[in-house]
Order: sequence, then structure tokens, then C-alpha cells
Amino acid sequence: MNTRDYQALDRAHHLHPFTDFKALGEEGSRIITRAEGVYIHDSEGHRILDAMAGLWCVNLGYGRQELVDAATAQLQQLPYYNNFFKTTHPPAVRLAAKLCDLAPAHINHVFFTGSGSEANDTMLRMVRRYWALKGQPQKQWIIARENGYHGSTLAGMSLGGMAPMHDQGGPPVPKIAHVRQPYWFGEGRFGEGGDQDPEAFGRACAEALEAQILELGEQNVAAFLAEPVQGAGGAIIPPASYWPAVKAVLAKYDILLVVDEVICGFGRLGEWFGSVHYDLKPDLMPIAKGLSSGYLPIGGVLVGDRVADTLIEEGGEFFHGFTYSGHPACAAVALKNLELMDAEDIVERVRDDLGPYLARRWAELADHPIVGEARSLGLMGALELIDPETGERFDKALGAGNLCRDICFELGLVMRSVGDTMIISPPLVITRGEIDELVTKARAALDATLADLR
Ligand code: PLP
Repeated sequence: MNTRDYQALDRAHHLHPFTDFKALGEEGSRIITRAEGVYIHDSEGHRILDAMAGLWCVNLGYGRQELVDAATAQLQQLPYYNNFFKTTHPPAVRLAAKLCDLAPAHINHVFFTGSGSEANDTMLRMVRRYWALKGQPQKQWIIARENGYHGSTLAGMSLGGMAPMHDQGGPPVPKIAHVRQPYWFGEGRFGEGGDQDPEAFGRACAEALEAQILELGEQNVAAFLAEPVQGAGGAIIPPASYWPAVKAVLAKYDILLVVDEVICGFGRLGEWFGSVHYDLKPDLMPIAKGLSSGYLPIGGVLVGDRVADTLIEEGGEFFHGFTYSGHPACAAVALKNLELMDAEDIVERVRDDLGPYLARRWAELADHPIVGEARSLGLMGALELIDPETGERFDKALGAGNLCRDICFELGLVMRSVGDTMIISPPLVITRGEIDELVTKARAALDATLADLR
């Protein structure tokens, strides 16, 4: 089959995630056929630097034979068995132990799921169950953030703060509230409050959280949910003042902290977990993506002792689980993935070498006429596009971000657009030379975008 054959079948039968079905039918999909290292290849023979690591997940890069071998060996040995009703299997047990070894000391248990969305559904049920067992069944409200993304299941969508998602498919899960995000460039600089100092803005966001807690009644609030750095929202790195101020608010009202590590976990920010970078000590951490480098689907919730002890000692049977919770082949691949990351010092390399190198090279793009800000942390980065004439955002109707994204693809680079924010999250095995190529292509794409918009 050639490209056109695939596109015709795709158009006829395949409904893609997060896609305007009709528009895609007219344009036709790009067919990705193979990949190695940080590069993907399409059916037309193009080689493209994947600066998004798939969907923020291929942390060890493409084509790792060790992961293929781990899957094959496990599929031969035991392709499936479940962890329900007092059974388990070696890969799930070993992966649980390895994860708890890597996690902060107060986290010693994990519940496996098949995805990050399922992890957030699981977390929500655990949090509400915890407070019920503690004699406070009214503590049900979960506060998350506007423009946060926590998945596409009903609970994941509800926890997320993406208004267009809430508008489709009926009302979200009750008792979930959203507070402002610590997005200085988008809201502190251009939004209400004007040219606020970033640190003052970070504190104002924590104050907004406190105000929301008081409005709901502190006795009714179960947990606050956030990513260390907001990924899908636009690689939003909070001002330094934000997390310490949020932690103080949560401690004041005895509210659980849930840190969604689905993107930031497994080395992305130069620590095994983004929570470690910000010293967050969360009560629960939903995980997925980089856990298996995306080779097979697996997620989970890492549960801190405070919640786990109560669920274990007082909870009785927890009526919750998925057929693929801790699937043996997925668990075997995840375990091998973590072992390889450990053996190859991937996390340390991101923290000490690649992250600082990307930060230096990425910051150079700030001198481009259509870049209002270039920011990065570890191996996650963003460029804010602005109109050079006004220094403000481009007119939305121009679709500058999507234009830049499409140009990137043509130039052999995957960079994602969130509105007019361009984001990257490359595989953690990227080399300095490949970072240079990424930055060169990004600059060429910015030039072409500017030329197109003129
Ligand atoms: N949480 C975060 C922070 C995510 O970025 C995502 C996916 O992008 C999810 C949860 C949902 O994960 P999944 O797509 O595996 O269900």
C-alpha cells in the first residue's frame, strides 16, 4: 500500500483522537512508518526530528532492542494474567518495588492502570475514599487548574481545565473546581493585572487557590491536583514563588496534594519526578507515558504512606481495577525501561548536561522577532509567538502557532503548537548535536512563519 492507499482507508474508517474528522479527511494524514533514536520516518521517505517524543513519552528514544526483547520474553512466558483477587505475577511485583525505590521515601505503594487518564480516575476515587475512611465524607471537592490536562476519560476530562472539552459530551464529574494557572506570560503579562512581576503573580495564583478553598469551605476540600510544570497547557513553568506558596496554603487547611507526573515523571525535568525538582512531597502521583517510554501502555498511581496506610488498614476491599492493571508485558517493558534509564544515568544527564545545554541554545531563540519568550526546564521547552509590530499576541484568526507547526513538519521537525505557544519535549537520549539541529530547524521555521504572515 502506498501513502494514498493508507490515506483513503484512514479517511474512510478511522476517527483520530483530538482531530477535526472532516478537516483531516480533506487534508489526509501523514503516515508514520518507522523510527530510530530521536527520528521518525513517514511513508514519503521524510526523516523528521521528533522533538515531542511522540506524545511526551518516548523518553528512551525509538528502536531500543532491549525493550523489544523484554516484551517478547514476557509474551512468551506469560502474555496475560491479572492482579485481581489475590493473584499477581513477577513483572508487576518487580515493577512496583522498583517504582517505590525510585519514588520519594514517603511513597511505598503503587496501583497500576493502563493509562494516565485511568491513573487520574483512580486517584480521584482513592482521595474521596480516604477522606470517607477518615470520617470526613463531605471532603469531596478536588481543586485543579484552568488549562490543565489530566486525561480524556470522564474524570480525566473533568479534572482537566480545558473548557472546549467540558463543552462536549455532557456535564463533567461534580465537585471539581478550577483555579488560575501560574502562566505568567499568558496571564500575568498580557492578562488582567497587566505587567505583573512574575514572583508576585506566582503568589497571586496561590492566593486564588486559598480564596477558592474558603469559598468551597475548607472542610469540604479533599485535594489539590496539578502538574509540576503544566505540559499540554503549554509547557508552563511556574514562577519560583508559586509552589512554596501553594504548599503553605495546602498545609494550612489539611488538603491532600496530588501531583500529576504523567509528563514530568521519569526524567523530563532532570529528576526522577518533577515533584523532587520542586520539593513537593505529594500524597499521590499519577504516572504513565515515560514509565514505559511509550513502548507499551501502562500507568499507575504512586500512593504516599498517609493515604496508603488508611486504605490498607481501614479500607477493606477497594472496588476498582482494570483488566490491564499491571499487564505483564507492559510491566516487563516498564521495568526494563527504568533499569536502562538507571544504568545509563539518563536522569543525571538531563539534569547536569542536556537540560542546561538546551536551556542555553533555546534561550538564543528569544532574539527572534516573533518570539516573546523562550523558556525551558530539563528537556521541556516553549516559545511564545508574538506579533513583532505590536509586541502583543498575533491576531488569533491568523493561526500563527498552527502555521509554525506545519512549517516545522515540512522542515523535518515535530514541534507542537498550543495556541501560539510552540512546545518541545524531546526524547531524553537526544545528543547535543541533535539539540543543535533542533534549534537550527526551529529558527528556520520561525523565519518561514514570519515571512508567511507578512
Ligand atoms: N495527565 C497528564 C499531565 C497528561 O499530559 C496526560 C496525557 O497527555 C494524561 C494525564 C492522560 O494520559 P493518557 O493519555 O495516557 O490517558
